[in-house]
Amino acid sequence: MDPSAYKGIIALLGNPVSHSLSPVIHNAAFRASGYDMRYEAVDVPPSELESVVNRIRRGDYAGANVTIPHKESVMEHLDALTPAAASLGAVNTIRVIHSGADNRFARLEGDNTDASGFAKTLAPYGTRLKDSSCVVWGAGGAARAVVYTLLHRFHVSRVTLISRSVDRALGLARSLGAPGSRIRALPWEAGTEVFENASLLVNATPLGMTPQTDTTPCTNPGVLRRNQIVYDLVYNPRNTRLLRDARAHGAETIGGLEMLIAQASQSFRIWTGTEMPVDIVRTELDRYLRENA
Ligand code: NAP
Repeated sequence: MDPSAYKGIIALLGNPVSHSLSPVIHNAAFRASGYDMRYEAVDVPPSELESVVNRIRRGDYAGANVTIPHKESVMEHLDALTPAAASLGAVNTIRVIHSGADNRFARLEGDNTDASGFAKTLAPYGTRLKDSSCVVWGAGGAARAVVYTLLHRFHVSRVTLISRSVDRALGLARSLGAPGSRIRALPWEAGTEVFENASLLVNATPLGMTPQTDTTPCTNPGVLRRNQIVYDLVYNPRNTRLLRDARAHGAETIGGLEMLIAQASQSFRIWTGTEMPVDIVRTELDRYLRENA
């Protein structure tokens, strides 16, 4: 299709949104693709969420991303959910589905690309992950997408959640409908034995994130080892303390920027039906992070 056929504004609905890297990613991708599209961060207080969603329905926006704190509350304002969004109970991407003469009717479908983005980045490790044991620090929205993906896409045998609040972790396990034998929840003071057989460790907390770059969820780096994959969802800074410790102990590492780009590329495909020029986006993001470090 002629690139000029792709038009419109994609909104990022969140509160706050000013620090998001998504505008850098998507505007680079739209420019490189030759699309007449723009990605705009829109700061939406909870009381205004419904009216902003209705602006998407009226055509002011051609689609949207949704971020904290609206990922769950936005669902009641949409017309349909994909199976991923329904299972996760969270939406991060809104697709506008037009129908009728002159595309008069617009239905809004909520999707979730956090889980599929995470899955894409881990795909090269699929064989190693199958039937293995994994550890996830944190029990919030990102942990939920991670656990869902590990169980349903990679068929790991067990996920151990390490969380400040064991009740929150147990709630996460229950809501994903996983049998107790496949998810267990432990407090932060869990012993080192939980790491012994783990093939993958994932940080799904903000520990290590700017400005607290000296923090890490792994207070005993001695548990990190070769033949282990350590994945830090934190992407600012790129090289977190957890990743440095993991590399120093011979583990393989994946940084949060990979998931950020992967989930964005899947949202891009949902809105445009085309592939994001990921290499150009990565170069642009590197440049942006260097200049704004
Ligand atoms: P969230 O829903 O607020 O959950 C945060 C989790 O971290 C909760 O379990 C929270 O525990 C725990 N936590 C927070 N501060 C902690 C501390 N000081 N010590 C121990 N635990 C702590 O946030 P989220 O959306 O899941 O995001 C989590 C992290 O993942 C963030 O850093 C975010 O930037 C990153 N993320 C990255 C991507 C990506 O594409 N790379 C995507 C999504 C999220 P409590 O329940 O006790 O508060």
